[in-house]
Amino acid sequence: MTQDELFKVLVAHCKEYGFIFPSSEIYDGLAAVYDYGQMGVQLKNNIKNYWWEAMTRLNENIVGIDSAIFMHPRIWEASGHVGAFNDPLIDNKDSKKRYRADVLIEDYLGKIEEKIEKEVAKGRKKFGEAFDEAQFRATNPNVLREKAKWDEVHNRYVAAEKANDFAEYRQIIIDCGIVCPISGTCNWTEVRQFNLMFSTSMGSTADGANLIYLRPETAQGIFVNYLNVQKTGRMKIPFGIAQIGKAFRNEIVARQFIFRMREFEQMEMQFFIKPGTELDWFKKWKETRMKWHVNLGMGADNYRFHDHEKLAHYANAATDIEFNFPFGFKELEGIHSRTNFDLGNHQKFSGKKIEYFDPEENTSYTPYVIETSIGVDRMVLAVLSHSYTVEPLENGEERVVMRIPAPLAPIKVAVMPLVKKDGLPELAQKVVDELKYDFSYQYDEKDSIGKRYRRQDAIGTPFCVTVDHDSLVDGCVTVRERDTMKQERVKIEDLRAMIEKKVSLTNLLRNL
Ligand code: ATP
Repeated sequence: MTQDELFKVLVAHCKEYGFIFPSSEIYDGLAAVYDYGQMGVQLKNNIKNYWWEAMTRLNENIVGIDSAIFMHPRIWEASGHVGAFNDPLIDNKDSKKRYRADVLIEDYLGKIEEKIEKEVAKGRKKFGEAFDEAQFRATNPNVLREKAKWDEVHNRYVAAEKANDFAEYRQIIIDCGIVCPISGTCNWTEVRQFNLMFSTSMGSTADGANLIYLRPETAQGIFVNYLNVQKTGRMKIPFGIAQIGKAFRNEIVARQFIFRMREFEQMEMQFFIKPGTELDWFKKWKETRMKWHVNLGMGADNYRFHDHEKLAHYANAATDIEFNFPFGFKELEGIHSRTNFDLGNHQKFSGKKIEYFDPEENTSYTPYVIETSIGVDRMVLAVLSHSYTVEPLENGEERVVMRIPAPLAPIKVAVMPLVKKDGLPELAQKVVDELKYDFSYQYDEKDSIGKRYRRQDAIGTPFCVTVDHDSLVDGCVTVRERDTMKQERVKIEDLRAMIEKKVSLTNLLRNL
């Protein structure tokens, strides 16, 4: 299966098993908006809990808030979103399809990178043990030719990005012969700026309604509450404020399922620090956040940092944590050193003094900020795409198993009587009563036990507990583990501790 096909299969699987549905489906859907089903919402909540507890419980100096989506419209002027939250868009005149000009160029560069990697893989195969990768990359004519092409386009792209030169974006697209995937032509419009904020109006028009924006990020709700939290919580710098909430962006090209949505959720933390200490804290938060990801056991190789070459004018360091999605390494989380840009601007626009009095140094200053910002939905996609596995079975059949990290699994345990008679359902109910206060569970008595196992594999349930006739006599049940399919007999009263060990969020947090 190609990665593209795998992705299609994953999207279908998510729908079939109640993880994610297209929004408003009976009305033919709404582009780039999705609903979470009965499984998806639990996975999402578990991810949010893992983040929230890691931030607010493991760090004495980080507290959480929940600010409103609607905010005073001046906030978006102060933050720069009214003036500069734009994407460069370009249309193909033949297909009438709209694209992001920067994404077209980046995809083109990505294809060159793929070609280079293919050449290297060929070399590795050809030369076997004697293969010297560094030398191959430095001397192979095909690699050198592609690399030169990459360098040239990349340099032009970076320069155009820095200068906000949209005519040059278009020229690069034309010079590289980048065509529209639908029409196959190079018949492009000019590149235009497009603001990504959704707006609506508040109050009745008779009263003179106010133009209000749906927040494009949760961060500003934190900045405008900086003084409230610092004062009421008696917070001392360094300290952080964390928030999970919805954000809205009118994305031009919303593709790739829940990777790029128009309504999505963010988990953001703003860490307030003394000016001059930002690069040390930036490094510390890079490490802390990477550890949080790797701790889930989805393979350290599947993450990498991508440091930004072009920094926003207010930032003095920025990096992305990229994840190996089915469509390649892409941004999962951003970590930014934002200086005092936001607080400083809110001070200017609101006329309220936003400063911190440092009792040790006996001075006041506007704090600097390190931000960590991760999309909940992208995290859900990372987990789902990594977990989806098709495995051959001994009997020649296949099973689809979602190897979701156990503490994030929507359902932790399934309880099943072997047959629907002889007192087995009653005993199974007793097992449910033993477990339901601690774990999300499903009770299932329909179909053969094999079919029931398959259903649980498909939603990633770490444990299946089967009650059989022997259970009535010895008080033991068969526990089958999802990944190994190993089965063992366990006393009913020992079940809780056994399951807890593997699925508990506490243990996951302890390992951080
Ligand atoms: P991209 O370059 O992919 O558009 P971004 O750099 O604009 O992302 P940020 O503004 O740094 O993203 O937002 C922080 C995080 O929010 C991202 O790392 C991502 O996980 C998430 N995010 C941003 N836009 C979307 C979206 N349209 N759909 C889902 N998640 C998003």
